[in-house]
Amino acid sequence: MTLKTQEDWQSLAASARLHSQLFIDGRFSDAASGARVAKANPATGETLGAYALGEGEDIDRAVNAARLAFEDRRWAGQSPSARREVLLRLAELISRHGDELALIESLDMGKPVQEAATIDIPGAAAVWRYYAEAIDKVADEIAPVGEGNLAMVRRVPLGVVGAIIPWNFPFDMAAWKCAPALAAGNSVVLKPSERSPFTALRLAELAREAGLPDGVLNVVTGHGGGAGKALALHDDVDCLAFTGSTRTGRALMGYSGQSNLKQVWLELGGKSPNLIFADARNLDEAAAMAAFGIFFNAGQVCSANARLLVERRIQAQFVERLAAQAAAMQPGNPLHPATKMGSLVDGAHLAHVLGHVEAGKSHGRLVAGGAAALVHPGGAFMQPTIFDDVDPASPLAREEIFGPVLSIIPFDSEEEAIRLANDSIYGLAASVWTADLDRALRVAGRLRVGTVSVNTVDALSPQTPFGGNRQSGFGRDLSLHALDKFTALKTVWVKYAG
Ligand code: NAD
Repeated sequence: MTLKTQEDWQSLAASARLHSQLFIDGRFSDAASGARVAKANPATGETLGAYALGEGEDIDRAVNAARLAFEDRRWAGQSPSARREVLLRLAELISRHGDELALIESLDMGKPVQEAATIDIPGAAAVWRYYAEAIDKVADEIAPVGEGNLAMVRRVPLGVVGAIIPWNFPFDMAAWKCAPALAAGNSVVLKPSERSPFTALRLAELAREAGLPDGVLNVVTGHGGGAGKALALHDDVDCLAFTGSTRTGRALMGYSGQSNLKQVWLELGGKSPNLIFADARNLDEAAAMAAFGIFFNAGQVCSANARLLVERRIQAQFVERLAAQAAAMQPGNPLHPATKMGSLVDGAHLAHVLGHVEAGKSHGRLVAGGAAALVHPGGAFMQPTIFDDVDPASPLAREEIFGPVLSIIPFDSEEEAIRLANDSIYGLAASVWTADLDRALRVAGRLRVGTVSVNTVDALSPQTPFGGNRQSGFGRDLSLHALDKFTALKTVWVKYAG
């Protein structure tokens, strides 16, 4: 890929094609109501396009199409190797259209286009490729039940999967849900966030081009309380795969109970701790990565390292390093290739983050940022913000802010660091920085989270499971374990004359 200039991206943006209809049964169509909602570019405040306001009737149509596609086995009945070929073609199309997809993602939710082009879109293609390649290599089981009996334990697709995803990594989250669900032979109805609806529609179009049969992947845009709720309450949806806030996750469990007891899998929020011990190998590297851990994607990352626990004897020097990192990460135009931090997803979210910062001033000492940044008059930009000496009992230390706001809390002993790290309703991820291998493994073993990164932050790959414990949810995305969410075990027992 040749590096594009801001002017290159701007001229591509002028001709970007954004879909404004639903994608159901292999074609684009308007919502039943005909309604559309205008969507702004958060970096400028200017209108970017409009998305169709899908609601209950549209969800019905999409679920019916998905059900029919599942029951006539146009996809589930194909051999795993045939499904692999289609999904590999999709991964290839995603890579080929990488710049276009990165640009749409950036315009839609404000992230730096260079990051979208080098991290988000290649990351999604890798996930599609991983499940394509996996699906004809995972074998079923024969249970050891003895002579005269053949007990096969098979993994079978569930049927219709509803996928509801957030706005922070829209294209990646679509891949994390849809790739394993489709590889396993299910049909999917995908409901992207109303704050970032556009790349999901392009994904469905590319999937069709790759050879995915009509009705197997449907995309209904719309609001959480409209299309999202209708999907979650639908009696013909077998499984709900969700990434988003803990509050919505709670509602989805209720909707399942009120309807058909569909399986619900939740990837929710976090307030992940980053533990910096004084014996860390290289404090400059630890500070640079800690800054990345909270300011990447403007802090709009479920596993963002939002709580930094630092050994008190290096606190002052470490905070100084962090403040220097923050100063070097000021937000800029998302279309400039050197921009490290773009805008937040919209003005409402900026106001929400600034509200936390204002309230936080009585619970910690503001050492960097703390205000909106003026990059563009209509843009939702925020300065990288750091609070030191934060009260561990305060909302600043405990609540997910989902913005570029770091809370620093000092500790005096390993035991105290572990206690502070685990003192949270969440349990998604954690990082530990130390040169002492014994300590690294000891601490990693005691942190109540889904992923511990040692001497790095946010370690993640298609090969390893990702997800949380406690109010960060349950079930795992990525890795072969994600296939468990989208399949049921079925025992077929045959008696024979032994
Ligand atoms: P959100 O819960 O507001 O929305 C997520 C999705 O749910 C959207 O598509 C929305 O339309 C839909 N929704 C909202 N209310 C609904 C309802 N009543 N019924 C059905 N659907 C509904 O979350 P968000 O603001 O889009 O995303 C931010 C949150 O997502 C943060 O809490 C973040 O930590 C979390 N997140 C978690 C992970 C993870 O893997 N654990 C990854 C990314 C984001």
